[in-house]
Amino acid sequence: MHHSTTHYSQGADARGHFGQFGGRFVAESLMPLILELERQFNAAMAEPGFLAELDRFQAEFVGRPSPLYFAERLTELYGGARIYFKREELNHTGAHKINNCIGQILLARRMGKTRIIAETGAGMHGVATATVAARFGLECVVYMGATDIQRQHDNVARMRLLGARIVPVTSGTGTLKDAMNEALRDWVTHIDNTFYLIGTVAGPHPYPSMVREFQAVIGRETREQMLVREGRLPDSLVACIGGGSNAMGLFHAFLDDAGVQMIGVEAAGEGLHSGKHAASLQGGSPGVLHGNRTYLLQDDDGQISDAHSVSAGLDYPGIGPEHAWLHEQGRVEYAAIDDRQALAAFHVCCRQEGIIPALETAHALAEVARRAPQLPPEHLMVVCLSGRGDKDMPTVLRLMEEQA
Ligand SMILES: *Cc1c(COP(=O)(O)O)cnc(C)c1O
Repeated sequence: MHHSTTHYSQGADARGHFGQFGGRFVAESLMPLILELERQFNAAMAEPGFLAELDRFQAEFVGRPSPLYFAERLTELYGGARIYFKREELNHTGAHKINNCIGQILLARRMGKTRIIAETGAGMHGVATATVAARFGLECVVYMGATDIQRQHDNVARMRLLGARIVPVTSGTGTLKDAMNEALRDWVTHIDNTFYLIGTVAGPHPYPSMVREFQAVIGRETREQMLVREGRLPDSLVACIGGGSNAMGLFHAFLDDAGVQMIGVEAAGEGLHSGKHAASLQGGSPGVLHGNRTYLLQDDDGQISDAHSVSAGLDYPGIGPEHAWLHEQGRVEYAAIDDRQALAAFHVCCRQEGIIPALETAHALAEVARRAPQLPPEHLMVVCLSGRGDKDMPTVLRLMEEQA
């Protein structure tokens, strides 16, 4: 008889390995810093004062708890599962990213750091980082690919208003992966005063576990809210995946509940066979990037490829190592949704629920559209509304014109 004894929620081992994934592939000179960060993070999370302050900022600055909302008209339209939205788009700065930024900035302050660095692709993590750096009066430097700076004027303007300095990165293709390399290089040369604030469940250990802990509030709240609303746990959870932080945040509190099915949704861009996508698990292979071993988009020589998706926030060429492990273990299912399917689901959400979702989120909603009609009406499905779509207006309008 098979006994399922795996406690998936335990996550990484002491050296940050999730099975064959994760770890810390960094320059020797960074090791002492990484070990110190890990020690400080563990100490902070065991300190009631730190946790109380985190709770206070989550409540008063971010606006938590975010509601669990019954999407009644979407449920009626699809005619199957009861669909709930976990409303992370209502957070300050319009997405889940701030949950993690608040946690890391409190840790940076506790460690006496005065300078915050980050990398950003679409600019959403840059904006969330600049926001918390402003709130705590810390210097903020954001590495951003030169190509991305041109594509994302609004977020560049926001970061500057918030007092951040943007450093254009022209190496490689001038996109996110190049900005990540530059940020790691900066960290090595400013070890004393600098804190590297990573925006998703990636990077060298302890980042994947640390970011997941700061995002796990999403799933903890969902669990409580669902028990109050329906008197039982949900049957399935759906979330989109860039690096995988909103998904890990929603999933973590349910990983040991075998009856809760979980689906992570990668961006298939123009299609998995087009070569223009961001589906690291379904269209990539294992390798090392950003200080950890995971599934990556890479060519036969191990050169990292650029990711492609209509949603800039899913354009990460890797995926967090914990997802790579959960995929291998078969605990979480991974699906792929292309640009066209995401855009269709985006419009349905606008018209059925009066909520304009982020294009990233629309990938999760498209997977809901595929599954919900096949399921019985007692099936409880929760989708993470990871962000709002205001930032995506130029993209959506352009696509609507092209299709008209
Ligand atoms: C950045 C972003 C994502 C993707 O990041 P994860 O780390 O995978 O959560 C998803 N949705 C929104 C709205 C984002 O801004």
